[in-house]
Amino acid sequence: MITINENFLNLQNNYLFSTIAKKVDDFKLKNPEKKIIKLGIGDVTRPIAPVVLEAMHKAIDEQGNLETFRGYGPEQGYEFLREKIAEFDYARRGVKISPDEIFVSDGAKCDCGNIGDILGTDNVVAITDPVYPVYLDTNVMSGRSGNYNNKTGKYEKIIYIPVTAENNFIPEFPKEIPDMIYLCFPNNPTGTTLSKEELKKWVDYARKNKILILFDSAYEIFISEENVPHTIYEIDGAKEVAIEFRSFSKTAGFTGLRCAYTVIPKELKVYTKQGKEVNLISLWDRRQGTKFNGVSYPVQRGAEAIYSEEGQKQIKENILYYMNNAKIIKEGLQEAGYTVYGGKNAPYIWLKIPSGLTSWEFFDKLLNEVNVVGTPGVGFGPSGEGYFRLTAFGTKENTIEAIERIKNMK
Ligand code: PLP
Repeated sequence: MITINENFLNLQNNYLFSTIAKKVDDFKLKNPEKKIIKLGIGDVTRPIAPVVLEAMHKAIDEQGNLETFRGYGPEQGYEFLREKIAEFDYARRGVKISPDEIFVSDGAKCDCGNIGDILGTDNVVAITDPVYPVYLDTNVMSGRSGNYNNKTGKYEKIIYIPVTAENNFIPEFPKEIPDMIYLCFPNNPTGTTLSKEELKKWVDYARKNKILILFDSAYEIFISEENVPHTIYEIDGAKEVAIEFRSFSKTAGFTGLRCAYTVIPKELKVYTKQGKEVNLISLWDRRQGTKFNGVSYPVQRGAEAIYSEEGQKQIKENILYYMNNAKIIKEGLQEAGYTVYGGKNAPYIWLKIPSGLTSWEFFDKLLNEVNVVGTPGVGFGPSGEGYFRLTAFGTKENTIEAIERIKNMK
């Protein structure tokens, strides 16, 4: 008899974004004349930069020519792209990462999830709370979570580390020492960051306790302030304990094209149950070689193009556009008396909900009264209750209008 991976039955099926979509659809059905503005989206809206398009068109043409046609590429990514990443994203920041420590993939989401394949299912997992849901759900799927407790809204074996206004969004060491921890900075959903000093504390803690840090810096390009690390490897010793996930999705609008990468330094050691050291990179290389056949050639050429001078200029124009929206949201909400966080080094604004409403009640209020859609904080974890996420990925015009409407809300 065929059986299933029963861990999947342990997933909470009220997936945040489908619940939101359903509420919005119901509202539209009842109010077809109302113009809804969506500031809940985590997807980019600006078109792909011309240099990327040009590089991709050229690469497509090469595929139609006998001399330049390419079939399967290297599973780890083409050398031309890995070299550019090593040079621009690391060497220029004073960090030595070699191209063969970089694994190009079709998404940071897949990498964050797939990495669990090579890690023991007995590992104790820590996540910050609120959190990007993929870290949690993929650990539920692989059986690391224990059962879900309806009362607390938490899985029994997962360590939740609150990041809220009370601790200035700086995660504190939990009572129980985990084996692996996900850190995402700049953070989705709170839009906040860690200073180098704060991140160093986590690197030191991980080294002392033989913990793996899974560092997601998908929003690195949005960093505008000094003293915010662009990569965890700016911190001494991080190569021994940290994997880094990066993505071209938000950096260059690749959410539809799909390209990302994961860095696993050669120094990074993990252990068998008997305590024997193993290099994590060799396991990931083996995993990718078996289960993954690489990102398409034209997409990798497109990603390569962002590292040209013109490419950098073009992608940064889009980032500035989004960050201008972030400013409009942040300042507008502050004028209206809201307490807001984030929005400086990330395209997310995390606002404190006034007047004792729950985050779903506030969602309904915004949708029904001013027809603006955001994301309830509790959807990202129990400590997100009382907060609400707005994103800077809309158009400027819609962003201005949405904030005006919120300002005028009773
Ligand atoms: N990591 C974080 C923190 C994200 O917010 C997202 C997307 O929203 C991703 C990863 C997914 O990136 P990708 O599009 O490369 O799969």
